[in-house]
Amino acid sequence: MEISIENLCKIYDNGKKAIDHINLKIDEGMFGLLGPNGAGKSTLMRMLVSLMKPTSGKVTVDGYDLIKDRKKIRSMVGYLPQDFRFFSQLKTYEFLDYVARLSGMKSRGKRADAVSKMLEEVGLFDARDRQANRLSGGMKRRLGIAQALINNPRLIIVDEPTTGLDPEERIRFRNLLSTISTQDVIIILSTHIVGDISSTCRDMALLNNGTLAYKGSPDDFVSQARGKVWMIKATESDYMKINEYYPVVSNIPVENGWEIQVVADEIKGYKGVLIEPSLEHAYVYFMEKKDQKINQ
Ligand code: ADP
Repeated sequence: MEISIENLCKIYDNGKKAIDHINLKIDEGMFGLLGPNGAGKSTLMRMLVSLMKPTSGKVTVDGYDLIKDRKKIRSMVGYLPQDFRFFSQLKTYEFLDYVARLSGMKSRGKRADAVSKMLEEVGLFDARDRQANRLSGGMKRRLGIAQALINNPRLIIVDEPTTGLDPEERIRFRNLLSTISTQDVIIILSTHIVGDISSTCRDMALLNNGTLAYKGSPDDFVSQARGKVWMIKATESDYMKINEYYPVVSNIPVENGWEIQVVADEIKGYKGVLIEPSLEHAYVYFMEKKDQKINQ
């Protein structure tokens, strides 16, 4: 299983260039797509699930062409959009059964088994007779995940997966995807939350303004910020000055001032000690390098 993206562009009717010549290869396993709001993540996701046509460029999924083999690709995809909502009055299990039937699962018996199994996996079995649009926020999100997984997709795309989930549900959700990712599937997690791109993602990309600011492993991503994260003990007035010139990622009040963390190649005029970077530091580091584009 592989996704190959070549020179992909999307320009909306109003002239907005949401995706700007992206080149990317995505292999099996969990892939994290990170980027701030407006970076172009949803646009890219919608093209990958063939809900929207690219303006130019070529995408293949497992060798199938996104445009020519649209039907085939649709049958391989499970998609949880960011704004997934229920408008139906169906019960939870009826809704899943409906989605399964739409995805081509014809046998009633097979569907019933698949629906029960999926309800168990996302922890909604006890709520199977509840009306879907009356479930709590977190439960709706889980039902969204269930509908994306019901037809055993080989390409799973989840937009902003942990929005509306409490910490326990987040962990449960990540574990569920991580179990699935051991099979021959690609799971793409699109998120603006740095913490969602955990060690479970083998590869990742950082999207900024429709271009790729980074692609590679999360570990390498963090490594590239090594030697760039400084801890400085500053007085109140120094802090104000530093804040004007450098991205301050954290500040803790201490006696006579502040202990602050700054991401920069070098800091002039202030004494700082280098500290180990985190994923969040790396995010800030790459986002600050606005001119940098990578395309191979
Ligand atoms: P993200 O998912 O990373 O928040 P989006 O893909 O939603 O980013 O949006 C990327 C850019 O394209 C944003 O500037 C957004 O305002 C713009 N955009 C999104 N959808 C449309 C649309 N239908 N028409 C015009 N511009 C759009």
